[in-house]
Amino acid sequence: MKILIIEDEAKTGDYLRQGLTESGFVTDLANHGVDGLHLALTGAYDLVLLDVMLPGLNGWLVLEALRRAGKEVPVLFLTARDQVEDRVKGLELGADDYLVKPFAFSELLARVRTLLRRGKTALEPTVLRCTNLELDLLRRRVLRGSTRIELTAKEFALLELLLRRQGEVLTRSMIASQVWDMNFDSDTNVIEVAMRRLRAKVDDPFEPKLIRTVRGMGYVLEAPDCA
Ligand code: CA
Repeated sequence: MKILIIEDEAKTGDYLRQGLTESGFVTDLANHGVDGLHLALTGAYDLVLLDVMLPGLNGWLVLEALRRAGKEVPVLFLTARDQVEDRVKGLELGADDYLVKPFAFSELLARVRTLLRRGKTALEPTVLRCTNLELDLLRRRVLRGSTRIELTAKEFALLELLLRRQGEVLTRSMIASQVWDMNFDSDTNVIEVAMRRLRAKVDDPFEPKLIRTVRGMGYVLEAPDCA
């Protein structure tokens, strides 16, 4: 499987290239919009990772030109945090998915594998729900009923994971690798602290309670009438 990375930040580009190579992919890296578009049009890629802010030609224009030329290769957009318009615009132009920087490599890899598996098809849902809790991935917004809840980036990622895997008990090590992209020593309480803060915001003031501690195992988000 061959992946084209179009990313002008050397550090991010190298990080992506190294990680994907280690995961068994063949990669090409372009650090300029025009070069990236040329490669995407002439090479046989299974997937394109596309940064938005690029010298020469920005990511939107690269994507537009690709689609106009009839290239249906899946495109995963890399966008800056809180740039809602970027994400919406990218999806409207025909991107297949997007990832908000900074992201955990494990998350990128999961998205890449999903896109490669399904080829070019419909997007996954962008709103995750359980009863009156709603997490909007595109708008980076969390609601409990009609109450808007402000979360930090980590709390948001933690809640996203809980909602995506609702009904499953998530162990601390699973949460550490998915949300922090690293392994924690077993005596580290960073996950407990983050979970406590998240619950204080999204669960404690509301009914029904959705997040439960499973003693000795981890955490689960569930409710009888959740999907
Ligand atoms: Ca950039």
